[in-house]
Amino acid sequence: MRSQHQQGIEASTHGLWAATAPVLQTEPLSGDSSADVAVIGAGYTGLSAALHAREHGLSVVVLDAADVGFGGAGRNVGLVNAGLWLQPNDVLKALGKSYGERLIAELGRAPQVVFELIECNAIACEANPKGTLHCAVGRKGVSELEQRFAQWRELGAPVELLTREQTVAEVGSTAFAASLLDRRAGTIQPLAYARGLATAAMRQGAHIYSQTPVQKVEQERARWKLSTSRGSVLADWVVVATDAYTKGPWAEVRQEQVALPYFNLATKPLSPALRESILPSRRGAWDTQSVLTSFRLDDAGRLIFGSVGALRSGGAAVHKAFSRRALRTLFPQLAAVEFEHAWYGTIGMTADSIPRFHRFAPNVLGISGYNGRGIGPGTVFGRLLAQHVAGKLREDEMPLPVSPVQSPKLRHLKEWTYEYGAQLAHLFASR
Ligand SMILES: Cc1cc2nc3c(=O)[nH]c(=O)nc-3n(C[C@H](O)[C@H](O)[C@H](O)COP(=O)(O)OP(=O)(O)OC[C@H]3O[C@@H](n4cnc5c(N)ncnc54)[C@H](O)[C@@H]3O)c2cc1C
Repeated sequence: MRSQHQQGIEASTHGLWAATAPVLQTEPLSGDSSADVAVIGAGYTGLSAALHAREHGLSVVVLDAADVGFGGAGRNVGLVNAGLWLQPNDVLKALGKSYGERLIAELGRAPQVVFELIECNAIACEANPKGTLHCAVGRKGVSELEQRFAQWRELGAPVELLTREQTVAEVGSTAFAASLLDRRAGTIQPLAYARGLATAAMRQGAHIYSQTPVQKVEQERARWKLSTSRGSVLADWVVVATDAYTKGPWAEVRQEQVALPYFNLATKPLSPALRESILPSRRGAWDTQSVLTSFRLDDAGRLIFGSVGALRSGGAAVHKAFSRRALRTLFPQLAAVEFEHAWYGTIGMTADSIPRFHRFAPNVLGISGYNGRGIGPGTVFGRLLAQHVAGKLREDEMPLPVSPVQSPKLRHLKEWTYEYGAQLAHLFASR
């Protein structure tokens, strides 16, 4: 684990979400302990695995190198979407009929799983299950949405393709040619959701430790010993839930992903009149551009605007200037509005945009690589991992096949291209 100083802006870059999420106190692990299941990583995957493992009566210890929600879980846009970025037909092509159909069905229901967990556990996280809007830029965008619409409708999903006029009314901007309204989806305060899952898991008896990087994992007879700087956990099962923020053992999880940086800026709370004119139904939205932008409101009426890019070195100024221009074009009434919070994080992309299910060693499992759509999938996969560990779901009944860890070709070059390509795109974009 690198020091706080070496991590620079990433170490404290949870922006608005850290400012408005309920506080959660957790301590580092000190001493030796034992559990049925040790979970490495306190994001959605690890916390959902922990909560559901407790429901199956298993004892659980969760260890996070930093804090609950330190990774993608505390930095994302908060769009709780159904399915993957890939369109359903592409999922079938990549995985075949059996796994593909299971994955599409599981992730189609993922927002429902998230919103039910929020309700059952009374998680205060600004949950708004009113749907999301995917907004078309130009003719190319419209044809992409037409395909998505046709494929999801074929599967019986409650999606609607909105006309330009309907989109103008939904978004409060004339920038988009159409939009896809997905009524399964919605928005949350993402860090509050992670902390709420952690609270629910602890209430059920899970032990969660922060500032506790797992440094070494070794087999001790039939069990696994996880070593940290001040203690250890002996467990029958290990769930590796470290995704794009992986450090220490199983570093290959990170090496199999291409890191895509994504930033968010939040305005001050808008006046009631401005609020009425922007996303009046409070649905979160994003567009079809390849360097996409996203925008949504929080409960206090701040507009959260995001796009691809890292707010470090020259990128910070370029992306902020682009965001001001983009907001002025999308919502001219916001021309004078100041940004109050800025933060960014790393999204883990896989070569074929499909998440990965790994068996690293006997009884050591992990799922990762959500390609920017991890709230629903992380929650669902955590639940499925817990079912598998509890003996309720066979490995071949999971919606993903076990696959070996494979590093993508030219990973560093692709990461460089994402970061600096986004800077170039934003430097020259008129909005
Ligand atoms: C800026 C941004 C915007 C996004 N927008 C969306 C969105 O709108 N909707 C959506 O669905 N998804 C979105 N995502 C993706 C989503 O946030 C991730 O897919 C999700 O957080 C993955 O969850 P996770 O639990 O697998 O991993 P994470 O939430 O990343 O958690 C991993 C945890 O593992 C810990 N860890 C790592 N190594 C160790 C170790 N050795 N020992 C102990 N702990 C360790 C880390 O500290 C971290 O807390 C976005 C991501 C980013 C960064």
